[in-house]
Order: sequence, then structure tokens, then C-alpha cells
Amino acid sequence: MKSSPFDYHRPESLAEALSLFAEWGEEARALAGGQSLVPMLAMRLARPAVLVDLARIPELRGVTKTAGGWRIGSMTREVELERAGGLPPIIAAAISHIGHFQIRTQGTVGGSLVHLDPAGEWPALSVLLEATLELVSSRGSRRLSAREFALAPMLAALEPDELLVAVQLPDCGGPFGFAEVERRPGDFALVGAACHGSRVVAFGTGRVPQRLTGCEAHLAAGGGPGLELRKLAEDEMEAHGDIHASAAYRRQVGARLVERVVGAAAAA
Ligand SMILES: Cc1cc2nc3c(=O)[nH]c(=O)nc-3n(C[C@H](O)[C@H](O)[C@H](O)COP(=O)(O)OP(=O)(O)OC[C@H]3O[C@@H](n4cnc5c(N)ncnc54)[C@H](O)[C@@H]3O)c2cc1C
Repeated sequence: MKSSPFDYHRPESLAEALSLFAEWGEEARALAGGQSLVPMLAMRLARPAVLVDLARIPELRGVTKTAGGWRIGSMTREVELERAGGLPPIIAAAISHIGHFQIRTQGTVGGSLVHLDPAGEWPALSVLLEATLELVSSRGSRRLSAREFALAPMLAALEPDELLVAVQLPDCGGPFGFAEVERRPGDFALVGAACHGSRVVAFGTGRVPQRLTGCEAHLAAGGGPGLELRKLAEDEMEAHGDIHASAAYRRQVGARLVERVVGAAAAA
């Protein structure tokens, strides 16, 4: 299939982009790396009247070390982060699981966060690390926590005239664990888990990345990997079944991954 017709704009500044979104609202769609949106256009799952290409907006690019951590512009491509060096290893570990190298040369951090695939690594990382998302429209700017942003699968808390400008991550060096099960390298995760400090997230299991608060309480109380942790993870994990894996599979394997990432973080 071919996409339905649309007007194409490539603004050179954030102000120019925002005025397009103010004018077109729900009729407009942002184009980042196009790795998810272009197939959706081709299948006519998305039929915007106006496509606003964010590629030339300097305000949306780049990685900055801040007082409290890191600020990553939404149009920063995965490959730029891989090559940046000096970033906390948990970021590199998560990115290495995103598709193939070719995908990562085009895919952006912001595109991944807004697309909000339940198995996506960036949504999971942002929930795990309690990231803050910077949103802006011609009406003003606001900040949301990653958990507030992730409303439902493929549904971010973003108004039609808003853009995601950047994601702020706290300092996230130190021990971590990150693991997932995928059918083939480069596929989306069937199920995944990550741990940093005493925080634990499961992804690819439920509707959105899920912080496992029971497991976190277990770790905060001095507990570690083992049967008790696995049982806690299985009990609290929201798991769905689809053509790729049953809910029971996701829950059982997810709990094993939780044990594994907690063990990796403890051993580091
Ligand atoms: C074969 C294949 C394998 C993949 N495997 C994985 C994987 O394992 N893990 C994973 O996480 N992803 C995977 N992806 C998806 C990939 O990471 C995409 O790059 C990502 O989901 C979307 O990023 P993008 O920059 O391409 O955004 P686009 O496709 O351009 O946009 C995605 C959505 O976000 C919106 N959007 C983008 N940027 C902004 C912004 N700044 N403000 C507001 N809205 C915005 C767009 O309007 C659109 O709705 C895979 C993709 C392919 C094709």
C-alpha cells in the first residue's frame, strides 16, 4: 500500500515547528527517524494531512551532562548515543537491544519514547530511571515523569500540538542489570527486565513498562535474587498473551529475568 497524501514540512527551528502544530493540531504528525511512522503511513494506520519533519531542528538534538544527570534531545539518534562515549553503561546496554544497527542509525530517542511500544527499551529505561520528559507547544512547556507519560501501549500523554523536546535522566552510573528474551537478535523483546539500585522494571509483559514495587521492597529490605524474589515478580507482574507468547510464558520468563538482572546488579 501507499500512504494517503500529505503535505510535507521541514522546519528549521522549534518555533517554526510549533506554529505548524498550532495551526494543524491533530491533522499534523511529527516525523523523527521514521522507523515506526513510515510503515504506519504505508499501511494507512496513520493518515496525517501534514507531516512535520523534525530533522533540521537544532534545539532537539544532542546530549548534555547536567548537574543532576543527563539531558538527551529527542531527535538524538540511537547511534549517536552509541558513539558518544562517557555515558552510563546502562544506556549503552539498553540501546544495544534496539533493532539492528541500521535501525539505530535512523531511530531517535524521542521517537521511541513517543511511539511507546510496550517492549521498547527507551520507555522501559525511562520508567526504571524515573526520567523527566520535556514537552513544549506554542501554549507553553511542561514536564512529565516517564510514568505519567506512558499512558497505554502506543499512547503517550502528549497533546496533538505538543512535541517532546528532551528526556532528562538522573545520574545512572553504578551497578545495573538489563536482560531480555527475543526470538532473533534485533527483534523486539518478548519479555525484558532491568534493575538499577533497588529499582526493577519489567517490559514487554504488560501494557506499559511496569515497576515491580514488591520486588523493590524486597531489595530495599536487604533481600537478593532467589526463589522469594522470583515469586514476588511472578505475583505482581502484569502479563498479556498474544501471537508471540502466552501470558504465562511472559510471567514465568519475566520473573526469571528479574532474578537475573538483580543478580547481575548485585555481582557488579
Ligand atoms: C525492524 C525493526 C526493529 C525494531 N526493533 C526495535 C527494538 O527492538 N526495540 C525498540 O525499542 N524499537 C525497535 N524498533 C523501533 C525503533 O526503535 C523506532 O526507531 C522507534 O520506535 C521510533 O523512533 P523513530 O525515531 O523512528 O520515530 P518515528 O517512526 O519517526 O515516529 C514514531 C512516533 O513518534 C512521534 N514522534 C517522534 N518524535 C516526536 C517528538 N519529538 N515529539 C512528538 N512526537 C514525536 C511520531 O509522530 C510517531 O507517532 C524497531 C523498528 C524496526 C523497523
